[in-house]
Amino acid sequence: MRDLLGGKGAGLAEMTRAGLPVPPGFTIATTACNLYLANDEALPAGLEDQIISQLQEVERLTDKRFGDPQNPLLVSVRSGAKFSMPGMMDTILNLGLNDRTVEGIISQTGNERFAYDAYRRFVAMFSNVVLGYKLHHFEAVLEQFKHRAGVKEDTDLNAATLKDLVKAYKAMILKELGIDFPEDPFVQLKMAVEAVFRSWKNPRAITYRNHNKIPHDLGTAVNVQAMVFGNMGNDSGTGVAFTRNPSTGEKALYGEYLLNAQGEDVVAGIRTPNPLSTLANELPEVFQQFVTIAERLERHYRDVQDMEFTIERGKLYMLQTRNGKRTAQAAVKIAVDLANEGIISREEAVMRVDPASLDQLLHPRIDPNAKIDVIARGLPASPGAATGTLVFDADEAERLGREGMKVILTRVETCPDDIHGMIMAQGVLTSRGGMTSHAAVVARGMGKPCVAGCESLRVDLERRTFTVGDRTFGEGDTVTLNGSTGEVIAGAVPTLAPELTDEFRQVMVWADAIRKLGVRTNADTPEDAARAREFGAQGIGLCRTEHMFMQPERLPVIQKMIMAEAEHERREHLAKLLPFQREDFEGIFRAMEGLPVTVRLLDPPLHEFLPNLVDLSCEVAVLKATGSDPKLLREKETLLRKVHSLHESNPMMGLRGCRLGLTFPEINEMQVRAIMEAACQLAGEGKKVYPEIMIPLIGHVNELSTVKAQLESVAQQVMEQAGVQVAYRFGTMIEIPRAALTAGAIAEHAEFFSFGTNDLTQMTFGYSRDDAEGRFLSHYLDSKILKDNPFETLDQEGVGQLMQLAVKQGRKARPELKLGICGEHGGDPASVVFAHHLGLDYVSCSPFRVPIARLAAAQATVGTTQMRDK
Ligand code: ADP
Ligand code: MG
Ligand code: MG
Repeated sequence: MRDLLGGKGAGLAEMTRAGLPVPPGFTIATTACNLYLANDEALPAGLEDQIISQLQEVERLTDKRFGDPQNPLLVSVRSGAKFSMPGMMDTILNLGLNDRTVEGIISQTGNERFAYDAYRRFVAMFSNVVLGYKLHHFEAVLEQFKHRAGVKEDTDLNAATLKDLVKAYKAMILKELGIDFPEDPFVQLKMAVEAVFRSWKNPRAITYRNHNKIPHDLGTAVNVQAMVFGNMGNDSGTGVAFTRNPSTGEKALYGEYLLNAQGEDVVAGIRTPNPLSTLANELPEVFQQFVTIAERLERHYRDVQDMEFTIERGKLYMLQTRNGKRTAQAAVKIAVDLANEGIISREEAVMRVDPASLDQLLHPRIDPNAKIDVIARGLPASPGAATGTLVFDADEAERLGREGMKVILTRVETCPDDIHGMIMAQGVLTSRGGMTSHAAVVARGMGKPCVAGCESLRVDLERRTFTVGDRTFGEGDTVTLNGSTGEVIAGAVPTLAPELTDEFRQVMVWADAIRKLGVRTNADTPEDAARAREFGAQGIGLCRTEHMFMQPERLPVIQKMIMAEAEHERREHLAKLLPFQREDFEGIFRAMEGLPVTVRLLDPPLHEFLPNLVDLSCEVAVLKATGSDPKLLREKETLLRKVHSLHESNPMMGLRGCRLGLTFPEINEMQVRAIMEAACQLAGEGKKVYPEIMIPLIGHVNELSTVKAQLESVAQQVMEQAGVQVAYRFGTMIEIPRAALTAGAIAEHAEFFSFGTNDLTQMTFGYSRDDAEGRFLSHYLDSKILKDNPFETLDQEGVGQLMQLAVKQGRKARPELKLGICGEHGGDPASVVFAHHLGLDYVSCSPFRVPIARLAAAQATVGTTQMRDK
C-alpha cells in the first residue's frame, strides 16, 4: 500500500485494520499529488467531494462535526511519502479551529487554557507550513508574552494570555503578509492539502531525496486524521518509541515522552523529554498497553518499529509506525537477533544490513587510554568518533566541508534547513533536544557521530561560540565528539581500530555461506595483508610494488638506477634492491599463507620516483644565483636533465606499465626473481604459496607474449636453483579498451585477467582521473550529465560492456581463466553486484572494504535467487 498511501498512511491503515487504537481519518493518495503537480497546481476533479464525504465518515466515527461551534472536529494534516523523510514535510495540527470552534472546544473540555493553547499552535503551524511565514517570528512574539507574564515555560501561560497571543499572531499575519487568517475550516483544509502536495517539491525535500537517491516522481500522500490531545494535563502526553534501541540494537523498548505536550514537542527538542521507562511509574496501565502493542507491531512487520503515540486523558492512541532507522551497529545486531529469534531467515538478515554502512563499524573509535579533556557531556545520539573544527552555521559547514576541511556542526538544535551542512560535517553537536531530536535522527541515518542535548553548553550563534563553565570555544577551535558516550572533548584525540562484535562476525559467516563471488584484498604490506585476512580476505588481488620503492632507504637506489645510462649500471643498482623486494614478498606470502597473492609488476612512470621538475628547477636556479656550492649545482643539473628527459606531457599514457619492462627488461626480471625467490623460500619450508605475477597495461597481445617469455625463463631459473617447485601463474590486467576488445588473443598467454577498473574507466571515458575529479566531474554530477562518479561506481553501460566482452572472449579461449576486479570499484556494493552478474571469480578491494564486499556479494546471490523465484 505504500506506493499509493505513503508509508505513514499505509501504517495507519494497517494499524486500524488490526484493531489498534488509531484516531479515525483518511488518506489522499500519492496519485492525487502527482496529478496536482502535473496539472499546474489544480486539484484533480472530484477530490474535493471525496474529501467532504470522507470527512463525514470521520465525523460519524468521532461523533463531532467539522466547523461546528458546539462540538467541533479538529484534524491533523500530515504528509507521508513512500519513504519516510524525517522532518522534511511539516504536519499541521488542530486544523478546524477558529474563533467560533474554539468556544466549542472550551465547552467540550471545560478547559479554556487548553483550547487556546491548541489554537495558538495551529495559527503558527498553519502560517508556517501553508503561508510560508517563518516560525521564529511566532517564537519571538511568544517569548515577549512569556517575558511580560513573567513565566519560563509555555505551559505556565494562562488562558487569557494565550487568547491574546492568538490575536497577536493573526494581527502579525495580516500586517506582514496582508492576509486575513482563514476562518472557514474547509478553506483551511483545502489550503493545507495543497500545501502538502506542494511541499513535495520544496528545496529541502529535493535535497533529501537527492542525498538518499529517492525518485522525484513518487509524490506524497496526505493523511487527514482526527486530533487527539496530549496537552490536556498530566494524564496526557506524547512520545516516540522504538521496539529496540536504534543506536545499539539492544532488545529493549526504547523511547522518550513528554507529559502535557502536543505533537512535535518531543521531536523538535523544545524541552528535553523523559525516557520511556519512567512512564511505567507515571501511567502504568498505558505503559503496559503500549508494550503489548509494540511487540505486536514488531512481529507483524518483522522489523524494528519506530512508533509515535499520544495519550489523551489516560487513553493511548497510536499515531504512526514504521520500520525504524538505525545505526550500522544496531542494524547488524537487530538482523542477527531477529534471525536467531526465528522472526526472519538468515538470508533476510543478510539483506537487512546495508553493506556501505559497515564502513562505520570498521572505523576508528577513541582510544580508551588516551588522556582526554572532556569539556561537556550530552546524549550519545549517534556512535563513532569525529574530530573537526567548530562551525556554527550550516552554510559555513557546507562551504568549508567542500574545501576538504573537517568540521563539527554545532547548533542549539538542528532543523531540516541544516541538512546540507550536516552532510558535509564530520559530526553534529547540539545543546538541546533528545535522542529522537532532528539532529540525532538525521545523524544516525547518515552514520555520523552526534552528541545531542548537551545542555551545559551555552551556544551563542551570533558570536559563533559556546561557553561551558568558564571556558569558551569558538569557530575554528578543534573538538572531538564521542557519539558513543556523548562526550565533547577539547582538541583532536587518538583513535583505535574498531573491535568486531559477535553479531558482526555472525552475519559475515551467513554471508559467506551464501555468496558465490570471492573477495580478495588490495594490500602492499604484510600488515595490510594480515588485517585484510582478519576481515575475511581470501587472498590478495592486487599487491602494488611501487610503494615499496618509495621507502627512504630504497628511494636513493631507485633514483640511481633511473639515472644510470647503461644497462649494466642499472643491473648493479637493481641487484641492491633485490634483497629488499624479496623480503617484502616473503612477508606478504607469510601473511597470506595458503591463499593466492597477485603481484603487479612496476606500473607508474619512472619520473614519479624523481624530484618534481618545478621544485628542482628552482633549486638549480637558486644554486646558480648564489654560486655557493658548485659541486651540488653540478649534481642537481644532471638530475634536472634526467627529470627533463623523462618528463611526459601525458604520463598516464606514457612510459609506464608493461612498456617499462619492455624498455628496461632488467626491472621486471629483478622483480620476478624477488617474487619467485621468496615463494621458493616458503615452499622450501613446506608452506603453501600461490604467487600470481601480473603484467600491467597490456594493450596488444604481443606486449604480453614478449614480456612473459622473458619472465618465464627467470621463474624457471629461480626454481631450478632453489630445487623447489611453486605453482605460479602469469596473468595480466585488463585496463586498456583494446585489451578488452582483443581479450581472446590475450587469454592465450594469460592464466588470469584482473580488471583494472580505475584505468579502464579513465581510458574508456577519456578522463584523466586526477584532472577530472578536481575540475569538471563535480559539475557533471551536479548538473546530472553523469548520474554517478564512474570512479566510485562502475559504469556498467560502457566500461561494463567492455568487461563483459573480455569475460566472454577470454573464457572462450581459455575456459579455466581466472577473472577478478582490482581497483576501488571492488569495494563498491553496486559494482560488486555487477561483478557477481558478470560471473567473475572474485573482487579485490582495500582491507577495510572487504566485509562490505563480502556482504554485497551475498546480497547479489540472494537477490538473484529472489528474482528467479518471482
Ligand atoms: P512526521 O512525518 O514529521 O513524523 P507526523 O505527521 O507524524 O510528522 O506528525 C508529527 C507529530 O504530530 C506526531 O508525532 C504526533 O505527535 C502529532 N500528530 C499528528 N497527527 C496527530 C493527531 N491526529 N492527533 C494528535 N497528534 C497528532
Ligand atoms: Mg514533520
Ligand atoms: Mg511522525
